[in-house]
Amino acid sequence: MATGKINVSVDNIFPLIKKFLYSDHEIFLRELISNATDATLKLKHLTSIGEAKVEYGNPIIEIKVDKEGKKLHIIDQGLGMTEEEVKKYINEVAFSGAEEFLDKYKDAEKDAGIIGHFGLGFYSSFMVADKVEIITKSYKDEPAVHWSCDGSPEFSLKKGKKEERGTEIILHIAEDSTEFLEDNRISELLRKYNKFMPIPIKFGTRTETLPKPEDAKEDDPAPTQEVDNFVNNPNPAWTKQPTELEDKDYKEFYRELYPMQFEEPLFHIHLNVDYPFNLTGILYFPKLTNDLNIQKDRIQLYQNQVFVTDNVEGIVPEFLTMLRGVIDSPDIPLNVSRSYLQADGAVKKISSYITRKVADKLNSLFKNDREEFEKKWNDIKIVIEYGMLSEDKFFEKAEKFALYPTVDGNYYTFEELQEKVKANQTDKDEKLILLYASNQEEQHSYIEAAKAKGYEVLLLDSPIISHLMQKLETSKEKLSFARVDADHLDNLIKKEDTQISKLSDEEKEKLKTNLEEVIEDKKYTVQLESMDSDASPFIITEPEFMRRMKEMQQTGGGGMFGMGNMPEMYNLIVNTNHELVSEILNTKTAKKRERLINQSIDLARLSKGLLKGEELTNFIKRSYEMVK
Ligand code: ADP
Ligand code: MG
Repeated sequence: MATGKINVSVDNIFPLIKKFLYSDHEIFLRELISNATDATLKLKHLTSIGEAKVEYGNPIIEIKVDKEGKKLHIIDQGLGMTEEEVKKYINEVAFSGAEEFLDKYKDAEKDAGIIGHFGLGFYSSFMVADKVEIITKSYKDEPAVHWSCDGSPEFSLKKGKKEERGTEIILHIAEDSTEFLEDNRISELLRKYNKFMPIPIKFGTRTETLPKPEDAKEDDPAPTQEVDNFVNNPNPAWTKQPTELEDKDYKEFYRELYPMQFEEPLFHIHLNVDYPFNLTGILYFPKLTNDLNIQKDRIQLYQNQVFVTDNVEGIVPEFLTMLRGVIDSPDIPLNVSRSYLQADGAVKKISSYITRKVADKLNSLFKNDREEFEKKWNDIKIVIEYGMLSEDKFFEKAEKFALYPTVDGNYYTFEELQEKVKANQTDKDEKLILLYASNQEEQHSYIEAAKAKGYEVLLLDSPIISHLMQKLETSKEKLSFARVDADHLDNLIKKEDTQISKLSDEEKEKLKTNLEEVIEDKKYTVQLESMDSDASPFIITEPEFMRRMKEMQQTGGGGMFGMGNMPEMYNLIVNTNHELVSEILNTKTAKKRERLINQSIDLARLSKGLLKGEELTNFIKRSYEMVK
C-alpha cells in the first residue's frame, strides 16, 4: 500500500479512510458502540442535573444483523440529535475529526498497531459500508432527522420517522465486508471490545432453560424460553471500590477476563487513583513458570471500559507485563506512537505508580503473612527479580521482601542472610561470600561439603539470577556470590589459616606432571591444594566468573565482552594431603598409576555430572575390573 503526500480534501476522504485503516476495519463497531454509550451517558448526566426533563429509565444499546438486507443496525436510547446537531456534529465535527486523523497519520502504516487506538469515530463506518444512514430523535422536543450518505461527499438530510428518543445507525455493508453480517463475527467483536462497557448491549436472543413444572413426567423435555442476549457486564470489578469486593469476587472476575485459565491467580492488586491522573484496574499475579515465553493471556488496557489493546508495552513497566488483569485510564494518549508514549510524562507517572503499588502490595503480603509469602515465592520470584534488575526504584523497595532461599528450605531477606552468615562466611579481606547452588541434585556433593563447614548454601535457580547477583555485587560493598562448585571451598572463602602441605615442592611438581600426562587434550587445568586430609582427593570446579558470564549471555544482556560462544572451563582440584594422592605419587608402575588417576578423575567427573556416554561405559567396565 502506497503512502505519500496526501492532500486531504472532501473529495477523497472516503477512499482514504478505507485504505488507511485496511488492517483494522473491525474497530468501526467499537467506535459506533462508543458513540452510542456516550450518547446514553450524556443523557444520564443531563437528566441527573435536571437539564433534560425526560425519564432516563433503563436504556440499552441494541445491535441487529439483517443478513438478507445486508444491513447492520446500531440502536441506542441516548440523547439523540436535532437537525442542527446532525449538521454540526456529523457534517462538520466528525468530518474534521476524520480529516485531522488522516493528516496526522499519513505515515501511520509505518507504526502499525496504534492506528486502531485512535478513535476515527463515526466515519470509520465507511470502512465497511458503502452507505450509512442515521435516524435520530433528540430528547428535545423536535422532529426526528434522517441523514444518509453513500460515501460520496454529498449527503442527504430529511425529516425522519422515529418516535422514540435515541439514534439508529444503519450500515449498508459493502461487498468486501460481508464478514460483518455474520452473527459469529459480530459476537466475537462484541466480546473483544465491549465486554465491560457501561451500558447493557443486546445482541439477539438466547434460549434459557426453565425448571420443569412439578407435575412433569420423567422424560418430558424441560421448558425453554427465548430471552434477550446481553453481551456485556456493565459493572466490572475494577470499577468498584476495593471495600465492596471480597477475595472471591476478584477470583470470579479473573475467570471472566480469562475464561480459558484454569489456574487461580496467587493474589491481586487493586489500582485506584484519581490524582494526578485517572487510573483504575486490577492486576493479578499468576503462577509463573521459569519459561518466560509462555505468555498468552496478557494485561488488557481499557479507556472508560472500552477495550483498547492487550499490548501494554510502554505503559506498564516491562517486568510487570508478566502479570494479568486490566488497567483502565482515560489519561493514556493512544494517538501517538509507542516510542513517544514511553517519553510521555503522564505515562511515566502511571508506570511508576503501578510499580509502587505492586511493591507496596508485596511488602504488605510479606509483612502480614510471611509463611504464605514464602510458599508463593517460587511462583513470583521471577517477576520480583526481573523488577529488581530493571527498575532501580523497585530494587530499593524489594530489599524488604525479596527472599533468598537456602537448600534447607529457609527463606531469608538479604539483611537476615547477612546477619546469619557474616561470622562464618567473611573472608580474610572482609568480603562476605554467599554460597549458592543452582541445582540441588546435580551439585549435591559440593553442597554437602559446604554444609560440613557450617556454611549456608542458597538455592538460586531462576534463569536471570546471574544478572541479579551481578547487580547485587556492584550495588553492595564487599559482597560476592559463589556457586558451591566454583572452586575448592577454602578458596571460595579464604581464611587466614592455610593448611600445611604434606608434599614437598619436588613431589608436587612430579605429581602435576603425572596428572597432566594422563589428562587428554588438557581438558582440565590442574590445581594442587593442601586441604583437610578427609576432604575429597579430586574435585572438578567451574570458575564462577566465566560460568556466570556464559549464563548471562544465554539470557541476554551479558555479552559485554563480545565473547562468542564461550567454552566451558573446568579446573581439577587435587587435594595433596589426601592419602590417595600420596599413593598415586608413590606408585612406581606407570600403567597402574595411570589407572588410578583415570579412575579418580572419573569419580570427580561423576560427581559433577560430567561423565557420560562412552566414557561412562568405560568407567563402569574399569570399576568392575577393579572390584574383582
Ligand atoms: P467523537 O465521538 O470522538 O466525538 P465521532 O466521530 O465518533 O467523534 O462522533 C462525532 C459526534 O457525533 C459526537 O461527538 C456526537 O456529538 C455525535 N454522535 C455520534 N454518534 C452519536 C449517537 N449515537 N448519538 C448522539 N450523538 C452522536
Ligand atoms: Mg466517537
